[in-house]
Amino acid sequence: MRVLLTGGSGFIGSHVAVALAAAGHEPLIVDDLSNSRGGVVERIRELARMPIPALVADVRDEASVSEFLAAHGRVDAVVHLAGLKAVGESVADPVRYYDVNLSSTLAVLRLMSAHGIDAMVFSSSATVYGSAGTMPLAEDGAVGAGIANPYGRTKYMIEEILRDVCAAEPSFRCTALRYFNPVGAHPSGLLGEDPLGVPNNLMPVVAKVAGGILDSVSIFGTDYPTRDGTGERDYVHVQDLARGHVRALEELAPGFDAVNLGTGEPASVLDVIRAYGDASGREIPYRLNARRPGDLAVAFADVEKAARELGWTAELTLADACRDDWRWRQATAD
Ligand code: NAD
Ligand code: UDP
Repeated sequence: MRVLLTGGSGFIGSHVAVALAAAGHEPLIVDDLSNSRGGVVERIRELARMPIPALVADVRDEASVSEFLAAHGRVDAVVHLAGLKAVGESVADPVRYYDVNLSSTLAVLRLMSAHGIDAMVFSSSATVYGSAGTMPLAEDGAVGAGIANPYGRTKYMIEEILRDVCAAEPSFRCTALRYFNPVGAHPSGLLGEDPLGVPNNLMPVVAKVAGGILDSVSIFGTDYPTRDGTGERDYVHVQDLARGHVRALEELAPGFDAVNLGTGEPASVLDVIRAYGDASGREIPYRLNARRPGDLAVAFADVEKAARELGWTAELTLADACRDDWRWRQATAD
C-alpha cells in the first residue's frame, strides 16, 4: 500500500512511517515542520531503508500537496496525523486550534477526493470520551460531552466530519484511532518525542527532570480516588501505536469506525516517576501540587475491540517505554 502521512515527521508519524516500511508498505510524508525537525525524515529513511518522498508544506496549501501527490503516482490511503496538540495552548488560543485542526482535515479530504483516495486512518484521542465515560472507556460509549479543552473538541468534531463523509460516500473507509497516552521512542534511539516548545505531558517532563534540565516534577493532584492518590492513565508505547496504524490500514472497511489504542492497564503519576527513575538510574525529585483543572482522576482503554477487529494488543510495557525514551534522550544529548 502507498500511504500518505500528514504530520509524518512528528513523534507518532515518524514511528508509523518506519512501521509501514517494515510491513512492506510505501510511506510518503507531508509535514510543515511546525512541531518537528527537518532531520527526522533522513532518520526515517535510514531506519526504513527506502527513499521516502517528503514534502515540507502545510497540508492546507492544497496546490503544493496536490502537485506532490500527482508527481508520485497512485496513493492508496492517508494517515492524517497533522495538527496542533498542546492542550494548554488550545485553551489560550482556541481560534488557532479550531482553524488549523479543522481546516487541515477539510483540506486533506478535498485532496483525497481530487486524487481518488478513499481510505483514511485518523489520529484521534481518548479525550473525545470527555468526562462522562465509565472505565474502561469503550468505543460504543458516549463521546463529546464534558471534553475539557478546545484541542479535545477538535478531535471530536473531526470524528463527526469523518462520519458525515462516510455517510455521503459509501465507498469511503475511515478508522479513527483513539490514542490513549503515547510514550516511549524507537529502540534505535533515532526517533522520539522532540516537541519544539515547553513540554506539558507527564513523560517529557519526567524525562527532563531525570536529565537535570528541570528541577522537579510537579504532581498535579494527590487526592484522587486512585491507588496512590495521583492521576492514572493508560500509557501506550509509540512502537505499539505504530503497529496499530499498520493493522488499521490493512483492515479498513467501508464506513466510519473508531478503535482505542491503549494497554488497558492504568498507571499512576508515581508509577511513571518510579519507572523512569529505574530506567534512567537517576533520582527524580517531585513536588506535590494541586489538581490541574480539567484533569480526570483515571482514564484507561477497553482494548477488546482493537484485539477483535485489528488483531492488535499492546506488547510493550511502561518500563520499555521509559527505557526507550531515556535511550533516545541520551542519544540526542550527545
Ligand atoms: P507532533 O506534533 O509530534 O506531530 C504532528 C506533526 O504534524 C508535526 O510534525 C507538525 O510539524 C505537523 N503539522 C502540524 N500542523 C500541520 C499542518 N497544517 N500541515 C502539515 N504538517 C503539520 O504530534 P504527535 O504526538 O506525533 O501527534 C500526531 C497526531 O496524534 C496529532 O494529530 C495529535 O493530536 C494526535 N494525538 C497525539 C497524542 C499524544 O499525546 N502525542 C494523543 C492523542 C492524539
Ligand atoms: N501530570 C502531572 N504533572 C505534569 C504533567 C502531568 O502530575 O507535569 C499528570 C496529569 O495530571 C495526569 C497525568 O500526569 O494525571 C498524565 O498527564 P498528561 O498531560 O501527560 O496526559 P493527559 O492528562 O492528557 O492524559
